Amino acid sequence: MTQGPEDLPASELAERKMRFLFALRSRGVTDARVLTAMERIDRGLFVRNVFADRAYEDMPLPIACGQTISQPSVVGLMTQALQVSPRDTVLEIGTGSGYQAAILSQLARRVYTVDRYRRLVREAAELFRQLDLVNITPITADGSHGLPDQAPFDRIIVTAAAEDPPGPLLEQLKPGGIMVVPVGQSDAVQALIKVTRTQSGFDYEELRPVRFVPLVEGLGSE
Ligand code: SAH
Repeated sequence: MTQGPEDLPASELAERKMRFLFALRSRGVTDARVLTAMERIDRGLFVRNVFADRAYEDMPLPIACGQTISQPSVVGLMTQALQVSPRDTVLEIGTGSGYQAAILSQLARRVYTVDRYRRLVREAAELFRQLDLVNITPITADGSHGLPDQAPFDRIIVTAAAEDPPGPLLEQLKPGGIMVVPVGQSDAVQALIKVTRTQSGFDYEELRPVRFVPLVEGLGSE
């Protein structure tokens, strides 16, 4: 049997979690609310099977459907850049494991999270129930169209790379709203972009290089 974090002695687990938070801080995640949320939400619950043992390392890991759970420091930096406040409604495109949505649930009023794989949405929804994260609404859909019925949003986070910020998502952002999105070709290094909607248009700020799986149109097969 593979050793998962649940099999570790409590002291070893506590030390790994401490190192996890230290790594986040040293990579620039300094926002106290973001760090508290990441301390509260246990990444070990969102990573399965052989990779569970590496849940507290600062690296992306494989999840079901050929997708990945993002690197924790990137999750932290994206969450920080999103500047979420407690009254915000947030849309996440790319539920994946559900980890990013769970962190957002600690900071926002409501989180809608969308994935094109039914299976990922089902498994994430089960974890949200177990953790009593009742302010997350997981939905299976092609997120490149956003969620017109629930729009507009205060914040939008895209956790898959698009060649350009998708038009429907820009339209569904409130004035004053912020969207964080990796932009670029899927097989290259992409740029993490912060888009702010102003009264008259959009401001774009390039934050850092990142590498995400591509935003793919249509529903997945599983
Ligand atoms: N935020 C996730 C990691 C996301 S990986 C986490 O915390 O674990 C990127 C996810 O985007 C994948 O699960 C993939 O299925 C999803 N995705 C790609 N294109 C999509 C689309 N058009 N609509 C919705 N989800 C999409």
